[in-house]
Amino acid sequence: MTAAAIPAAVACRVGTLGAGPTRLSARGTEDTLGLGGDASWQVDATIVGSCPQAAVARDSELAVLLVGEVMGDGGPEGVLRLCRDMGRWAFGEVTGRFAAVVVHGASRRVTLSVDHAGTVPLYVVQTWDGDLEVATEAKVLAPPAGRGRPLPGTDDVPGLRGVRRLRAGTCLTLHASGHAEASSTWVVPAHREQVDPDEAVAQVRAVIDTAVAWQARERMVTVLSGGIDSSAVAATVKAHLGSVSTMTMGTDRSDEFAPASTVAEYLGAQHTEVSTTIDSVLAELPSVVALTECADPAVTEYLLPLARLYREVPTGSRVITGYGADIPLGGMHRGKAQMALEELIVHDMSTFDGLNELSPNLGTHLGLWTSHPYWDRAVLNRLVTLAAELKRRDGKDKWVLREAFRNVLPAETVQRPKLGIHEGSGTTSFWSEVLLAQGVEPSRVPAAKSRISGAVYDLVVVGGTAPESVDLDALTSSAVAREVVGA
Ligand code: AMP
Ligand code: MG
Repeated sequence: MTAAAIPAAVACRVGTLGAGPTRLSARGTEDTLGLGGDASWQVDATIVGSCPQAAVARDSELAVLLVGEVMGDGGPEGVLRLCRDMGRWAFGEVTGRFAAVVVHGASRRVTLSVDHAGTVPLYVVQTWDGDLEVATEAKVLAPPAGRGRPLPGTDDVPGLRGVRRLRAGTCLTLHASGHAEASSTWVVPAHREQVDPDEAVAQVRAVIDTAVAWQARERMVTVLSGGIDSSAVAATVKAHLGSVSTMTMGTDRSDEFAPASTVAEYLGAQHTEVSTTIDSVLAELPSVVALTECADPAVTEYLLPLARLYREVPTGSRVITGYGADIPLGGMHRGKAQMALEELIVHDMSTFDGLNELSPNLGTHLGLWTSHPYWDRAVLNRLVTLAAELKRRDGKDKWVLREAFRNVLPAETVQRPKLGIHEGSGTTSFWSEVLLAQGVEPSRVPAAKSRISGAVYDLVVVGGTAPESVDLDALTSSAVAREVVGA
C-alpha cells in the first residue's frame, strides 16, 4: 500500500445539524499546519455558542481543539499544558465531558481523544492519502464508500463506510509516517471492592457532590422526574447554589407531576411543569436520531421525551439530569438474584459505547449545555465497583443511592420505585399503540420500531436529509407494511 499518510489537511468540524450553535473548525494545508516544517497555525474557532469550552488553545508547537468541558480551572489552556508535558498520555488525566483534537506540528502527528464515557462523540475519516477529517457528527463526514483507512481504537459507523467513531475512553494518535496507535484513557472497571455499607453510602454522596459542584452555576435547570436519581441531583444543586430550578414534563397521556412536585416543594425549588401532547413527543423522532446518530429504538424512546422537554428550557441554560444512574447500579433489573444483577451490570456497562445517549447534541442545537453527573468519571468508578449487594439491598433497588440521600429528600421520594422516562411520559406505550393500530402483531412491535428508527437513521444520518423534511407518517406506514407482510 502506497499511502502517503501525511495528514495534509485537518478539518475539525464540530457542529450540530450544520446550523447549530456550536461549531469549531480548523482547516489547513500541510504548510499552514506546519507539517512541512513551518510551524505557523491556521486554526480558527468560529461560533462557540452553548458549549462552555469550544475553543482552540495553541502555542508554537501545538494546537488543542476542545469541545465540551473539562474539570478544573485550566480549560483548553490547561489541556494544552498537559499535552505539552505528557504527550498522548495527557488524556488519562483529563476529566470532563469533551472531545479533543491536538495537532502537534513539530512532531507531525495528530491526537484525538474523547472523555472516559465518550459522551461527546468524535468521528474521523483518514484517507489513504493521509487527509484527515474529524467531526463530532458522523453525518458531516459522509464519505464515498471505502474512502477511509481502518484505524485502531475506533469502530465502524453503521451505513457510513470509512467513517470511524473513536471509542469511549480512547486516545488515538496518527503520525505523519502513517503509523496510528490507540491507547485507553479509561476502561470500565472489572473489579469489585468490599466496602462497609455506611462507608459506601458516604462515598456515593461525596462523589456525586463533587460531580455536581463543578457544574453548578447560575441558570442551571434540573430536569426532575421525582425519582431518586434526579431528586438526588436537585438536592445537591440546591446544596451548592442555595436554590434550585426544576422542570418536569408530562403529556396528555401520562406524567410524573405529583412525585416531582413533592420533591420541588420539599426543596423550595422554582418549579415548572411542562404539559405537552404525546404526538409532539413522537414527532421528535427524526430530530433525536439525527442528533444522537443512533438507530437503537430503545435509546430513541428514552430520549424522545427529554428532547421534547429541552425545547421548553430557556436558551442559555445548563441542564443537569439524573440520566444513566441505573446502568452502573442495575436499577432497572429489579427482582433479579444478586449474581444475575452483577452479570447484567457487566453487560450494560460493556454495551453503552456508541449509543450516544449522553450526546450534548440533544441540548446544543437549542442553546443548552447538558450534564449527567452519574456518568462523571469518579461517580462511575465508585458506583460500578461497589458489590451488587449494596446496589440492591433489603429488597430495594439502588439501595446505596437511596441511603446516600435519605436525609435530604422526602421519605416517599427515597422509597419511590423506578419509572423510566419513556414510561412516565407514555412514549413507549403510545408508539406501540400507533403501530398496533396499523396492524402490527404485538410480538413484532419492537421489530417495527427498529425498522422505523433504522429508516430514519438512513435518511438523516447516512443520507443527510434534514430531520424536519422527514415524513414520519409515510415512513411508518412503509415500515409497517413491510413488517406486516414479513418482508
Ligand atoms: P429515567 O428514565 O427515569 O431514569 O430518566 C432519566 C432522567 O431524565 C431523570 O433522572 C431526569 O433527570 C429526567 N426525567 C425523567 N422523567 C422526567 C420528566 N417527566 N420530566 C423531567 N425530567 C425527567
Ligand atoms: Mg424516572
